[in-house]
Amino acid sequence: MAKQLLGKEVTDALNAKLIERANALKEKGVVPTLGIVRVGENPSDLSYEKGATKRAELIGINVQKFVLPEDASKEDLLKLIDEINANDAIHGVLMFRPLPKHLKADQNEICNRLDPKKDVDCMTDLSNAGVFEGRSDLGFAPCTPAACMEILDYYGIDCKGKNAVVIGRSNIVGKPAALLLLAKNATVTICHSRTKNLKEVCAAADILVAAVGREGFVTGDMVKPGAVVIDVGINRGADGKLHGDVNFAEAAEKAAYITPVPGGVGTVTTSVLVSHVVEAAAKSV
Ligand code: NAP
Repeated sequence: MAKQLLGKEVTDALNAKLIERANALKEKGVVPTLGIVRVGENPSDLSYEKGATKRAELIGINVQKFVLPEDASKEDLLKLIDEINANDAIHGVLMFRPLPKHLKADQNEICNRLDPKKDVDCMTDLSNAGVFEGRSDLGFAPCTPAACMEILDYYGIDCKGKNAVVIGRSNIVGKPAALLLLAKNATVTICHSRTKNLKEVCAAADILVAAVGREGFVTGDMVKPGAVVIDVGINRGADGKLHGDVNFAEAAEKAAYITPVPGGVGTVTTSVLVSHVVEAAAKSV
């Protein structure tokens, strides 16, 4: 039976360090502050906002919320971002994406309006270039794949030379997760909906990251004995509960390590966000 990689253990360790760093900054007169930009009232945005706010309060960093109505114009949003850019008291910005449908065509332009120094969730081209080039000086990696790496680091799982397979190639999870694994010297394969022999590819993985968005997609026969399984999926099941992309019971029979859902990657994501804000604040001094 696999050992569970528990998000709480990782966040407890991260939080202790963050509280210390945030306090040191406060002594220098800088209170790390996260600006949250939300357009509309999407329930999953609201739920993430609640979790991020709670985590920020625990660490002792400030949160300022900027909420625009669902039908806000591109100009309204750009004006808000300009104001935030000019506000030295805000060190990091989380803007919920995807934006409402009428803003989708302009999403790239809107994201890139943010000062890259405040881009704590990788929405500007410069931050993305940093992930691509493996250069943390250019920006922060997106919080979810960064959370996967935090989990691997915390549990001392060395990626060097390992066969890592990522299922999913989205810009916010799959692709950056693959690049971060590559930066850790794993040999990386990215799978997607057109991948042939997906089961066989996954079954050869020493480290398997599932970011598919389909409940229970990874079955026991796709897991190599002794593998590390990182489940990024968050799916609301017919039972009303949250389920991962991995069939936990089957995968846990074969894996050496596995993240649960809930209680795995999702738990660590908000701590990573807060850590990016603290880092951005430290850089601003
Ligand atoms: P997404 O944009 O929908 O991407 C899903 C990826 O899975 C796509 O690349 C897609 O391939 C691939 N895929 C879909 N069906 C497949 C199949 N049958 N076989 C192989 N590949 C398949 O989703 P996302 O935003 O990356 O999110 C992925 C999951 O992570 C979701 O459950 C989401 O809720 C969760 N998530 C969790 C967190 C967290 O903090 N834990 C944060 C963000 C997202 P194509 O590219 O070919 O379509």
